[in-house]
Amino acid sequence: MSSAEIEAPLLRVTGLHKRFGENEVLRGIDLEVRRGEVVAIIGPSGSGKTTVLRALNGLEVADAGEIAIDPGLHLDFQYPLTEAHRYGLRDRSAMVFQNYNLFPHRTVLQNVTDAPVRVRGLPRAQAVAEAEALLARVGLADKRDAYPYQLSGGQQQRVGIVRALALKPELLLFDEPTSALDPELVGEVLQVIKELADDGWTMVIVTHEISFARQVADQVLFIDGGVVVERGEPKRILTEPREERTARFLRRLL
Ligand code: ADP
Repeated sequence: MSSAEIEAPLLRVTGLHKRFGENEVLRGIDLEVRRGEVVAIIGPSGSGKTTVLRALNGLEVADAGEIAIDPGLHLDFQYPLTEAHRYGLRDRSAMVFQNYNLFPHRTVLQNVTDAPVRVRGLPRAQAVAEAEALLARVGLADKRDAYPYQLSGGQQQRVGIVRALALKPELLLFDEPTSALDPELVGEVLQVIKELADDGWTMVIVTHEISFARQVADQVLFIDGGVVVERGEPKRILTEPREERTARFLRRLL
């Protein structure tokens, strides 16, 4: 067996449960993500996809189950979570939100450098240099002093991606990154995400863009009603689903 085969996955999620009041949103989610792997999560609205991502980023605390990030972080939600645990998740992952979540009264550069300087303690000059390099990479070097309202949705989301990259996470989480965009702006954002995949970033992407999932994902999960109904290689899941629920969902998207 090669070392790649015995290497622990970067992320291992086991039996994740989450309820909001009476609403049991996650009913035992299992997920493994290897280093460099791209996992796409698809499923109907309200099925729990965003809640999975938020749990991975420490924005929601699961009620039961385990999340492990290799090496060294192992959370078992049957025990109370400490702040240190929560920050452990935030330190190692970064989220790109559906609505960009940029600070409206701060410039692009301030949006990108805020967390590296304030949370990670990076010297400002270094944070600025790194931010500028990342902005150049997504074609936004000339927008560093612009405010979010001066940018198109596609540009704002590219800033959202740069802000996540500036944290140098091991795991990038995308929550429907193109669903708030006008159709003509979707492509530029998907292109950036595709390049990140080619560069070897480990990513979990919640998306309704099925052809994109097919192109970039190594593994697709179909979630419905808080459970993983089906998982596998995109080509198989998306063209020959085994489960009727998956087939019905895909037919509706066509
Ligand atoms: P999806 O991303 O698949 O659309 P979500 O994970 O956003 O689904 O939501 C799953 C369910 O959890 C929905 O019924 C939603 O209303 C509910 N939910 C999500 N977040 C909260 C919250 N903070 N409080 C109460 N209910 C929530």
